[in-house]
Amino acid sequence: MIDRLVILGAVGDLATRHLLAALAYLLSHGGLPSTIRVLGVGREPLTSQNYRDLAALRLAEHAPSVESLDRTALVGRLDYLQADLEQRPDLRAALGAGPVIAYLALPPSVYTPAVQALEDGGIAPGSRIVVEKPFGENVASARELSRLLHTVVDEQDVFRVDHFLYHQVVQDLLALRFANSIFEPLWDREHLQCVEVTWEETGGVAGRADYYDRIGALKDMVQSHLLQILALVAMEVPVALDERCLRGAKVAALRRVHALSPSEVAIRTVRGRYTTGQVQGRALPGYLQEIGVDPSRDTETYACVQLNVDTPRWRGVPFLLRTGKALGQPRRRIALHFRAQRLGLLPGAPAVLCLNMAPDRVTLELRVTGPGGLPGVEPVQLEVMRPRQLMPASAQLLRDVLAGNPTLTVRDDEAEECWRIIDSVLGGWRTGVPNLQDYPAGSVGPKLPGAPW
Ligand code: NDP
Repeated sequence: MIDRLVILGAVGDLATRHLLAALAYLLSHGGLPSTIRVLGVGREPLTSQNYRDLAALRLAEHAPSVESLDRTALVGRLDYLQADLEQRPDLRAALGAGPVIAYLALPPSVYTPAVQALEDGGIAPGSRIVVEKPFGENVASARELSRLLHTVVDEQDVFRVDHFLYHQVVQDLLALRFANSIFEPLWDREHLQCVEVTWEETGGVAGRADYYDRIGALKDMVQSHLLQILALVAMEVPVALDERCLRGAKVAALRRVHALSPSEVAIRTVRGRYTTGQVQGRALPGYLQEIGVDPSRDTETYACVQLNVDTPRWRGVPFLLRTGKALGQPRRRIALHFRAQRLGLLPGAPAVLCLNMAPDRVTLELRVTGPGGLPGVEPVQLEVMRPRQLMPASAQLLRDVLAGNPTLTVRDDEAEECWRIIDSVLGGWRTGVPNLQDYPAGSVGPKLPGAPW
């Protein structure tokens, strides 16, 4: 029985903004075992009381909907240990004798010393480790990170977190496919002409340029979140929706994603960088004007990649993944574009099944009779409204970690497959092909030649 959650990096943004709020939410909904205590580990010289005071402030700010009695109850379960994980700290007392959950809310550069400190501290068998993305920087480093993690816990107990998998509409993909008889028979190349996964933001990188400039749009978004969505759309029907079958089906789909050759990278990918412009009436400085940006890195703030999944179900259907910052409109959606009706009796664009992320909304765009009657037609949208407030994503994740259920996390081989695909794109980009295109902030961003969406 696990009765201790150890948050490494306990004073950081993720820990104090998301994890504490998620714990408070779980506690208030009866989802936090009464025996669980939380130990925060960080470099800041704080006492446990200092940390509780800090946590109370952050909870008031980030979990205002949780009753103050419940927030106070959570604060009472917190302790703090000052330790620099890069200085081989002694974590034996902190870890205790029983299994723990160790949450690495740390910069990736500290993962290695952190895992070594857990090993030196004698982390008990049956413990679980939660790791935030990025899981490495390429296939080799992803494999090395997994090897390191496996020195202390089994793969079954590694929770590589991809927060997108806890997006309501991302889970709706599974519900739409497998809880209705309507869509699954149409889920193939016969009926779909393109799958589009778009995450476009209006904000720039203000305040995060230090981090972002080393990563860029392709690694930040496509390597993890957008490829996870591709895998959920493209996978074959799993035997069950448990961790082994679902993740196995996803990895099988990822394996069939064709890695791009350098000549394909030139025509099937786009990379861009925003310049000064106006976003929804607000002036935004160009990316190169942001403090912390090194122009010699040529970091992209926009990436678009067209991939193919080489299976009988999907052969020839483009999967268009794109993401960008400082764009004119926030577009965050998974769109399945159906093929045009081939009867030729009436005009009209093909139907689109669209799962909007942030705000979560599912729409099905169909053609119905136009105002003047047939043969005129017009588009209408059938929209799914959410009837209730759902559990926050970070609380769902912690609930699964506490229950030892890694179904909606990323397995070692999945992380490696995603890097295999991205490494092929980066290989082309390193040769300078295609060009890094400038786009003004507030525009629609660069377009992939020939892509209709
Ligand atoms: P922060 O920089 O805000 O927090 C990291 C924390 O780790 C800091 O408190 C830092 O302490 C601590 N730390 C760094 N080095 C050491 C060390 N040697 N020993 C002990 N503690 C150390 O980052 P975030 O919280 O934003 O991110 C943490 C992880 O979560 C990253 O991997 C990030 O990619 C991921 N993530 C974050 C999200 C978010 O919304 N913040 C969302 C999704 C993922 P100090 O202050 O002393 O430097």
